[in-house]
Parts: sequence; C-alpha cells; structure tokens
Amino acid sequence: MKGYAMIKLGEAGWVNKIMPKCGPRDCICRPLALAPCTSDVHVVWENAIGELPGRILGHEALGIVDEVGSEVKLFKPGDRVIVGAITPNWDNEAAQRGFSSQTGGIMGAYEFTAKKDGTFAEYFHVNQADNNMAMLPDGMDPVAGVMITDMMTTGFMGAENAGIQLGADVAVIGIGPVGLCAIGGAKMRGASRIFAVGSRPTPVKVAKMYGATDIIDYHNGDTAQQIIDATDGAGVDAVVVAGGGPDILMDAIKMAKAGSKISNCNFFSGADTLPLPRLDWGSGMANKDIITGLCPGGRVRLERLAKLITYGRFDPMPMATHVFHGLDHIEEALLMMKKKAGDVIKPVVIC
Ligand code: NDP
Ligand code: ZN
Repeated sequence: MKGYAMIKLGEAGWVNKIMPKCGPRDCICRPLALAPCTSDVHVVWENAIGELPGRILGHEALGIVDEVGSEVKLFKPGDRVIVGAITPNWDNEAAQRGFSSQTGGIMGAYEFTAKKDGTFAEYFHVNQADNNMAMLPDGMDPVAGVMITDMMTTGFMGAENAGIQLGADVAVIGIGPVGLCAIGGAKMRGASRIFAVGSRPTPVKVAKMYGATDIIDYHNGDTAQQIIDATDGAGVDAVVVAGGGPDILMDAIKMAKAGSKISNCNFFSGADTLPLPRLDWGSGMANKDIITGLCPGGRVRLERLAKLITYGRFDPMPMATHVFHGLDHIEEALLMMKKKAGDVIKPVVIC
C-alpha cells in the first residue's frame, strides 16, 4: 500500500509498505478524511520524536472500517468511524489511574507515527478498536468530523485543565486550531473575558466567532504586559498555552494571577529545558500551577465531542480553511500546515 512518510529528518515523501495486520481487538481502516497537524510538522522538520525513516505520518483521521478482529463487538466492515489521534491501551495501569494518554510510558498512547505507521496511507491499523473509535454520526460532514480526533479534544482539554470558573478572565495563547478550540471550550465553561493571542486576520475572525473578547497581537510588544495592562494590573484567572516558542511559559506565568492555572497544550520541540520566570512564579510559591496533557482519546470522549457538533454547541467548520479531494493531496496539505501563511488554519483531505 501507499503512504506518505518521513524519509529522513527534514524530508517527507511517498513510500510503499506492506498492509498492516489486524489483531483480535483491532481493526484496519481505509481513510475517509485526513488532516495534517502542527505535530506532524514538529515530527518531520523539528526532530520532535527522532528520526523514523519510512514511518508513515499522520494521526488525524476518519476511517471506513475494512477489517475487524475476532473480538471486536461494536464495529463491522463499512462503518464510518471517528478514530482518536491518541489510541490508549485501556488495559494499562496509567489508564486505570485516569491518564489514558500516558499508557505504556510518557505520551505512550501516541501510537500513530511514534510507534507504528500513521494514518496518511491507503490503510491504517487501529489498536483496541472498540475503545478507540466512535461511529461518525449520520449526516455529519467528514470535514467537521475529522476535527474531533485531535483539535477539538486537545483544545477542549486545554480549557478543562485550566479549571475555568464562571466569569473568569482567560487568556488563550495561540489561535491555530488548538487555541481556537480552547477559546470555544473556555466560552462553554463560562469564561467572561477571553484574550486571544495571535495575529493573522482569518484566525482572529474565527477567534471572535468562538468567543474571544480581546485580541492581543504578540508582534505589538510584551504579550503578558499587554494583558496585564488591559486588566488594570490584575492578570487573568487561567491561561491556555497553544502556540509560541520555548519561552512562552515565561509569558503565561507572568500574565497569570496568583492562584491560577496555566494549561499547556504545546508540543515543545528544540531545547531540552524550558525557562520559567522565578519572580513572577513567586519563587515557586505563587500557586500558579502548570498543568499538561496529551490529546485525550477514547470512544466515550469522541462520542461526547461529536454530540457538541450535533447539538449545535460548537461548529468546527470555520477552521477548515482548505479542503482537498484525494489522498494524493496530503503532501500539499502538510506543506500548507508547515508554512501556515495567509488564511490557513487547517487543511482537510477527503479521500
Ligand atoms: P498553529 O501553529 O496553527 O498556531 C500557533 C498559534 O500561535 C498561531 O495563532 C500563532 O499566531 C501563535 N503564535 C506564534 N508565535 C507566537 C508567540 N511568540 N507568542 C504568542 N503566540 C504565538 O498551532 P496548532 O493550533 O496546530 O497547535 C498548537 C500547539 O499544540 C502545537 O505546538 C502543536 O504541536 C500542539 N499540539 C498538542 C497536542 C496535545 O495533545 N497536547 C495535540 C495537537 C497539537 P499567528 O499565526 O496568528 O501569528
Ligand atoms: Zn494532531
């Protein structure tokens, strides 16, 4: 089968591979919709998980079930499914402790690309299918459905982990698709004022649509100071980090009130250590908690996110700025995600 892979660090291209094998609890899918992720860009061009020559990229997919293992109860060939970008081993002790994305080691449930071939292929393998896939609701546009697999679950996790209370002031750093979903999540959780940090006009427009009340352009000087000034020196009750470089936690901690939560979604690449501002962090005693997380997966989570779309609570369609038809376009879509110029928020490929 054909797939789009890392050839070496800094280079991606098409490869031919043997078909994945289906275990008793697994399934094999053909792609129905695919989306490239900023994390795929970190993997190929920023050495985020090492060099994996020939490893097929991609983790965001809707599938059409092609084959199911003998113990799979909920799915059959032909079903149209939402596949979690993160596919935990639900038997693992970390899942039983409530941290299913960390099964089998740190970020261990990041199986696509990190541990096995990803979804940018004619066929892909899903482990523990009954737990890691959900039915795509009848009538749901696949362009919307594919946003559930990573962008919605990760961005909403950002808002959930920030512990947003009714009326809270919230800052969301970054208005790519993850930050935009965090804004939607912050609004649903009852934030009053939502500062959105970004600059490009199309994401700014969608940020306002999703609930941002104030736009902060990081090109206009110190981001944290702009937010502190706008709140008359107070800062914000919660920060979601979904953009910016290795120094961004400096800004996040500075703009946060004592007793707040800083919820990180960023996948930091580059240096092995990240700076923290000692004084703004109260020398480690300001009750400014940094909470991290990896894209939550699981069938129940995917079903609930799909219901947010079905019942009109959240519309991911404005994030799909570019829609292609045919697997061959995945290369163009990934390069678009790398460049992220102009009005690009998220390209989607319908296969
Ligand atoms: P994008 O690259 O699409 O968006 C990044 C945003 O950050 C843009 O709005 C950009 O602004 C803004 N930005 C850039 N530089 C700065 C800066 N110095 N200060 C403040 N804002 C800045 O990213 P995604 O939304 O796709 O992903 C966000 C992060 O989440 C990535 O690191 C990604 O790898 C990670 N991720 C993590 C997951 C998890 O499970 N935790 C899952 C999926 C993704 P503009 O372009 O408007 O100028
Ligand atoms: Zn992703």
